[in-house]
Amino acid sequence: MFALDSVRFQKVADELNLPTFRLAQIRQWIYTHFTGDFNEMSNLSLALRETLASKYRVTNSHVVAVRKGKGSVKLLVQYPDGAKIETVIMSYRDWSSACLSTQVGCAMGCAFCATGPMGLERNLTTDEMAEQLWHCCNYAKVNSLQPIRNIVLMGIGEPLANFRNVVEFIRRANDPQLFGIGQRRITLSTVGLISQIQELAQLNLAITLAVSLHAPNDKLRNQLMPISRKYPLQELVAACRKYTEATGRRVTYEYLLLAGINDQDSHGAELARLLKGENCLINLIPFNQVSGASFRPSSRAEVFQRQLEQAGLNATIRRSIGQEIDAACGQLRKGLPE
Ligand code: SF4
Repeated sequence: MFALDSVRFQKVADELNLPTFRLAQIRQWIYTHFTGDFNEMSNLSLALRETLASKYRVTNSHVVAVRKGKGSVKLLVQYPDGAKIETVIMSYRDWSSACLSTQVGCAMGCAFCATGPMGLERNLTTDEMAEQLWHCCNYAKVNSLQPIRNIVLMGIGEPLANFRNVVEFIRRANDPQLFGIGQRRITLSTVGLISQIQELAQLNLAITLAVSLHAPNDKLRNQLMPISRKYPLQELVAACRKYTEATGRRVTYEYLLLAGINDQDSHGAELARLLKGENCLINLIPFNQVSGASFRPSSRAEVFQRQLEQAGLNATIRRSIGQEIDAACGQLRKGLPE
């Protein structure tokens, strides 16, 4: 990613002997106008534009396929080593949101997820995540969508398993000289890696932490999310409580509703007991059918929500968009869109 940090930016400036105001102009073209072609930077001299175009690229990755749905667009991004990931733009009335991937594949093996069976290929670097975000911003700009104002790290991969790169990416996304996306508009979704949640709490970022719960007890959760065998629910909830104490940010618990598996009254009662007294939000997520998975969507979302609210908990039902292009939660893959 061109000039993503000040050290590299200064290096370019030194190489080309550029004054500070020129740097600011170039940065504005790339991170405000999301221009990917140096030749379009009309307030630079022709000679400088040609030099930049001959020596540098704004991104090293490319969008190699686009799939459009109602309210969402899925981009397939390819990196120089051939690795591909999917990223999704979701459009709302006044803004757009980018759902970004943090790894190529994923090692967590969640039973309901399209990525789960594919395994982990590698982590994405900070630059590669920034390029994903840039492609979303560029696409929104070129296609007159609302600008990207929110980021959700809920695409392919487990963000906390790529901790350093993800934290660095959050800082770059938040940097006013780069993407300038407010920390409160960034959500990181995790299966619940406890030691990394503890480490994240120390960084005092104002992001939203979303923890995938999906079951009210360890037995069921271990079946749905094999990684959770290492992280008992009571310890996970305690870590989230400490996260809130340290950051002042309420944790969101994600709960995917699977018909007959985790959506019955008994599950609701157990979930209410588990989270009783916690300062949290429970986000109920409609299941999106994944080919090969034996799960079915639940029709009990409203009933389940009412049950939790009657127990004194805050619960919402997530509006699912992007389903028709396999861009909804749990449907992303590292391959080409069908
Ligand atoms: S749901 Fe997320 S953490 Fe689980 S396998 Fe899929 S990508 Fe990985």
